[in-house]
Amino acid sequence: MLERCGAAPRPVRRQAELTGLNGIVLPGGESTTIAKLAAAFELLEPLRAAVRGGLPAYGSCAGMILLADRVTDAPAGQQTIGGIDMTVRRNAFGRQVDSFEGDLEFAVLGEEPVHAVFIRAPWVEQAGPDVEPLARIPSGPAAGRIVAVRQGSMLATAFHPEMTGDSRVHELFVRIVGES
Ligand code: GLN
Repeated sequence: MLERCGAAPRPVRRQAELTGLNGIVLPGGESTTIAKLAAAFELLEPLRAAVRGGLPAYGSCAGMILLADRVTDAPAGQQTIGGIDMTVRRNAFGRQVDSFEGDLEFAVLGEEPVHAVFIRAPWVEQAGPDVEPLARIPSGPAAGRIVAVRQGSMLATAFHPEMTGDSRVHELFVRIVGES
């Protein structure tokens, strides 16, 4: 997806691989596992320092949890990278079987709605004054819940835009990286 947007992505698994990046994508997966592995590979502190130092970051789903300053419904001691002044609720929509897809209004990406894939997704429970909500759940019991945000050069979505053919979220991130 990033290549399609004109970026040159490469995986980061070791601290040394953080060098020379213009931005970082924190993917979906399992945020407690990602945080534990990041700590074990001595990546957690360098990632915190990089994001604090202004490295643009985009987190999807588990990545959104990792970019949150505060997490609810997390196991005791769950670590995050932080950076976005928000409280994120893990597994907010329920269990794996409650995963779903739906169309979201996402005004900064244009009029065409974004078809969003939510896989045991979080939502944003509370967002600070510098956090710009970009998309919300339109209807149903979770109506109004924030599922995409931007704070400066940090972007996060509760859903997985890499699962669809629509590259507009990644394009937005590549643009943010370019502007910074
Ligand atoms: N439920 C996962 C977590 O808490 C996130 C799921 C995902 O990234 N699709 O980390």
